[in-house]
Amino acid sequence: MGVQPVRGTRDLIGEDQRRHAQVVAVARRVAELYGFAEWQTPIFEETAVFARSLGETSDVVTKEMYTFTDRGGDSLTLRPEGTAGVCRALVSNGLTQALPQRVFYAGPMFRYERPQKGRYRQFHQIGAELIGPAEPLADAELIACGQNILAALGVAGEVRLEVNTLGDAASREAYRGALVAHFTAHREALSEDSRMRLAKNPLRILDSKDECDREIVAAAPTIDPYLTSEAREFWDGLRRGLVAFRVPFSENPRIVRGLDYYSHTAFEFVTDALGAQGTVLAGGRYDGLVAQMGGPPTQAVGFAAGIDRLALLLTAAPPAPRPVAVVPLGDTAEAAAISVLQGLRAAGVRAEMAYRGNLKKRLERANKSTARLAVILGEAELARGIAQVKCLDTGTQTEVPLAALAAFCRNDPTPRKA
Ligand code: ATP
Ligand code: MG
Repeated sequence: MGVQPVRGTRDLIGEDQRRHAQVVAVARRVAELYGFAEWQTPIFEETAVFARSLGETSDVVTKEMYTFTDRGGDSLTLRPEGTAGVCRALVSNGLTQALPQRVFYAGPMFRYERPQKGRYRQFHQIGAELIGPAEPLADAELIACGQNILAALGVAGEVRLEVNTLGDAASREAYRGALVAHFTAHREALSEDSRMRLAKNPLRILDSKDECDREIVAAAPTIDPYLTSEAREFWDGLRRGLVAFRVPFSENPRIVRGLDYYSHTAFEFVTDALGAQGTVLAGGRYDGLVAQMGGPPTQAVGFAAGIDRLALLLTAAPPAPRPVAVVPLGDTAEAAAISVLQGLRAAGVRAEMAYRGNLKKRLERANKSTARLAVILGEAELARGIAQVKCLDTGTQTEVPLAALAAFCRNDPTPRKA
């Protein structure tokens, strides 16, 4: 039995967990303001839910999925991302007749990747899907929501937005020809993966992380001259929408996104603060995905953000909460102390009681537990209906009537320890 977590997985404890929870709480609150409702879909799905929709040549499907056969002989996969499951759920629950749907989710995802800072095998995403609207204004609103989440987390200054268009199917078909010509001319210099992509999905080469592909990718033609007039109109509409929502952006013709289901809009919020793991929130339009899950043709746009990376970006970790320590003096005070303890909790005050030791020991323990106040209860105090409340930072002691104890603890201005 191993005493270490599996490679690429982490325990979230203490400050790590507080950072993580902060990202989720802030994102959830902002998403609510935009009208999103939270869904939870299963952590594993039939393999086909991901294999078909994410694209046969995507990195995720070719080398990153945790796929296993269960005891019943079914092929199942731990979800590598959230969108496919949400679209599957939309169809399973008959909600394709109840559009639009604004869906928010948060939870763990699984990809077999080489672990490094900001890249794990179990990682966590928040995501938002706006399913139904066909207008580019929806894309702009969704991106504004992402921008708002980053701003509310205090990391917007570290991050810039890059947008691109992938056009519609006809634009991509025309563009594909140009890409094939370009990459075929440099075929010998391409990485092995990219040579394989050249035959199946040349657009995917633009997303290559391989060093030897970099220069050839940089010299590749852009999609712009191949956009149909509809695709161009959509692209113009997106940029107008972003201006209307006051979201600053720059255009980056190299953004194609790692999964196959995108069309028109593709965007990434990127940072220089996390090395190669620079993308913190990314998404695009995926008009074909719901139909692939067996639903009717349905328009949709969404994003996912890496919670682990956002947690690394937070400048100040949320402080550890500081409880009030209830300290009974002697066995006889214990029962009364328990009722004081429960009374504080009922009044919304975080409170703890040590079970053992003399006053000195219990105070020491209270100090170690980062308690901010000690509520000391001896028989003499109980007889008078008061408690001695000691501030553990300053040492000041105050007599407080039991009836006023909760209010006193709640209003205590002791700063929180980091
Ligand atoms: P990358 O290019 O970094 O591999 P990706 O394009 O595979 O990212 P998406 O599938 O778009 O990522 O997922 C959205 C976000 O989820 C990413 O921008 C990133 O913040 C986060 N993410 C993806 N894979 C991981 C991982 N293995 N560990 C931590 N975060 C991840
Ligand atoms: Mg990846």
